[in-house]
Amino acid sequence: MEEAATIRAVAIDKTGTLTTGQLRLARVQILAHASEQWTTDQVLALAAGVHEFSEHPLAQATLRAARAQQIRPLSATDFHSVPGRGVRATVAGSEVQIGNSRYIENADAGALQAVDQLEQSGHTAVLLKHGSDILAVLAYADTLRPTAAAAVRQLRQLGVERVIMLTGDNEHVARSIAQQTGVDEYHAGLLPTDKMRTLQQLKRQYVKVAMVGDGVNDAPALAASSLGIAMGGAGTDVALETADVVLMADDLLNLPYVIALGRSARRTLLVNLGFALAMIAAMVASIFSLDLKLPYAVVGHEGGSVLVVLNGLRLLGFRPKPATGSAPSSNK
Ligand code: ADP
Ligand code: MG
Repeated sequence: MEEAATIRAVAIDKTGTLTTGQLRLARVQILAHASEQWTTDQVLALAAGVHEFSEHPLAQATLRAARAQQIRPLSATDFHSVPGRGVRATVAGSEVQIGNSRYIENADAGALQAVDQLEQSGHTAVLLKHGSDILAVLAYADTLRPTAAAAVRQLRQLGVERVIMLTGDNEHVARSIAQQTGVDEYHAGLLPTDKMRTLQQLKRQYVKVAMVGDGVNDAPALAASSLGIAMGGAGTDVALETADVVLMADDLLNLPYVIALGRSARRTLLVNLGFALAMIAAMVASIFSLDLKLPYAVVGHEGGSVLVVLNGLRLLGFRPKPATGSAPSSNK
């Protein structure tokens, strides 16, 4: 609570934190050279097989899409995940990789162009590689949390000097979400260690910096922050264990609430301490100068304690501010 009271900057993860993390697999685009041997259903079965082992929001979206189209995931073994980059597993003897171009290196121009096009239309796009062949680009769309913009606005009203969005996702999506939520600044294409380093930089500038996140990729930054805050519902175990505060019900408006409550508690504490010390000083002075009688001194001392307790109890009535204004409700 004390840390929450003194926060001057807040860093927020994008996927799963500012957005719902309930992504939708919007498109499976088979690359030209593979379009004769592979159908979208086959590629989806392949992708779902690998993604069955991943807890990433992208993977959950692949599985939902497969389920909706009644496609059974192929069985995969030897699963590996590299946070911020991608995943791989073996399916029917071939290695299958799904991830961004940092993970699937030396992608050809055609594949990169397809990724670029889908990213420009606001999608999170990843490549799917089968053996040594890049087969397809999977494009996902995310939805902004309805309270994201209001939460950012309330943080600023509370006097938080800077709100920064950190994401491993691409620049196009990052810019669009940053504009819709009204954050002061955003950093895209970050690996988990980059998020941590950005946080350390922010701490040098603002001293007290909170980090809000949900994923494995946020854990280093959560640990490096002055106050780590995890999303309770969407959060992965690592994020929950690293965080100092967990926002239940995934309500982003609880974020300004935590900070406001922290400030209010700290203010009450300081007022109470000041008041109690002043009472004691006044009584000591009265005993020597006005010859204050013992019963009055006792009443003054205990009466002061009662007032301090009553003032502290006022915090029970502390209520979060309702969201004001209308927030943009969705994003491609
Ligand atoms: P964010 O910071 O927005 O929460 P992450 O750091 O988790 O995002 O992921 C960054 C990028 O890494 C994703 O946009 C995607 O390109 C790639 N990636 C991470 N995990 C996976 C996965 N399980 N499958 C495919 N791509 C992944
Ligand atoms: Mg995330």
